[in-house]
Amino acid sequence: MTVAATQDLVQERRLVTELPGPRSKALLARRQATVSNGVSAMFPVFIERAGGGVLVDVDGNSLIDLGSGIAVTSVGNAAPRVVQAVQEQVAAFTHTCFMITPYEGYVEVCEELAAVTPGTHAKKSALFNSGSEAVENAVKVARHATGRTAIVVFDHAYHGRTNLTMALTAKNMPYKQGFGPFAAEIYRVPMSYPFRDGHTDGPAAAKRAIDIITTQVGAGNVAAVLIEPVQGEGGFIVPAPGFLPAIASWCAENGALLIADEIQTGFCRTGAWFASEHENLVPDLVTTAKGIAGGLPLAGVTGRAELMDTVHTGGLGGTYGGNPVACAAALGSIKTMREFDLAGAARDIETIMVERLRAIQSRHAAIGDIRGRGAMIAVELVQPGTTEPDAALTGQIAKACHTAGVVVLTAGTYGNVLRFLPPLVIGHALLSEGLDVIEQAFDTLAG
Ligand SMILES: *Cc1c(COP(=O)(O)O)cnc(C)c1O
Repeated sequence: MTVAATQDLVQERRLVTELPGPRSKALLARRQATVSNGVSAMFPVFIERAGGGVLVDVDGNSLIDLGSGIAVTSVGNAAPRVVQAVQEQVAAFTHTCFMITPYEGYVEVCEELAAVTPGTHAKKSALFNSGSEAVENAVKVARHATGRTAIVVFDHAYHGRTNLTMALTAKNMPYKQGFGPFAAEIYRVPMSYPFRDGHTDGPAAAKRAIDIITTQVGAGNVAAVLIEPVQGEGGFIVPAPGFLPAIASWCAENGALLIADEIQTGFCRTGAWFASEHENLVPDLVTTAKGIAGGLPLAGVTGRAELMDTVHTGGLGGTYGGNPVACAAALGSIKTMREFDLAGAARDIETIMVERLRAIQSRHAAIGDIRGRGAMIAVELVQPGTTEPDAALTGQIAKACHTAGVVVLTAGTYGNVLRFLPPLVIGHALLSEGLDVIEQAFDTLAG
């Protein structure tokens, strides 16, 4: 029995109104009156219930979820173990502040993080509320531990929206435009992006980045190199084999820390607990969030114990970081991942999706590239026969999928990537139906 089957929501696509339906439209009008326009709504259908691989809206439409709320509900929405753990915890106590009077759940999450993150060395963690906050704190630890200030990041990177993480994020619109000035001591170098940079040789691509670090930053100034092992918002860019290990070796040889931002790739999403494992990478620090807690806000920084412990007592923390309800949810999620081998489920999803997408690509030259790992798969759309991005077609295909009741997301520096992040518990029949809808959208709209 799959997790999805234990949910009481019927796992089907069912449209009973146009999308958005009348109740969603009424809520949208209220939203427009009171919610800042700065917060976007890609697909303004208001959700009432969700479980397994479906989202049910306020008009009774049942949608196929190929987004997981941006790689968050990997264990499925309202996953049974998460619901139970949260209900028990919320009835027991909701908050004490871990820095004041601690509780077991926080410690247990840190024990799990030490067990599941890459490497067998002694590890310690600190917990936070959002991915951005985890990245900020990883940078704090790296600077404190090394006594250096420079942070190296990559083209197409996404690390968040707070002031420091805006500086770490590459893309201007919509994340940075008008929000500066940005934090100092951030240096950007070229990513390995085989579809666009012509380097299928990872070590050569790494050398290009390292040359810039050594000549423009100075090796001795680098506190950390921060990288997503598979870039998320940047468009599911998988670096050429050997790129990550070459960067890691350079860090080790030069006293710089390697921070893997596994916020999107972590917790079974790519077919392993962490994407670093695909290249035997053992980062000094790992940031986690998104998939960690089945939808509750929780984030972590996990790293070598001696690095995490260089910080003076009181130097890391926050009012809500590691909230007991969020910790209970994380423990329920991690249990679910183990019990149902969700890393294996992600690999099965990859097999199914890549085969279907290749078949679509064989008929539509607009698909320039199919890439990703596990249940983190994307297609990059181009003008046929070129690598010229086709953001317009990408938007049209996403919209057609939405209209037909399938939630897909877009991504990419050029806005020309369709990305798929299904819950890892999605039933294969439902996933296939989602792919049918994607295929139909290409057949109708693409050359
Ligand atoms: C989403 C994301 C973040 C930011 O997380 P928030 O919880 O939105 O602050 C940072 N890094 C990566 C790789 C992400 O995907």
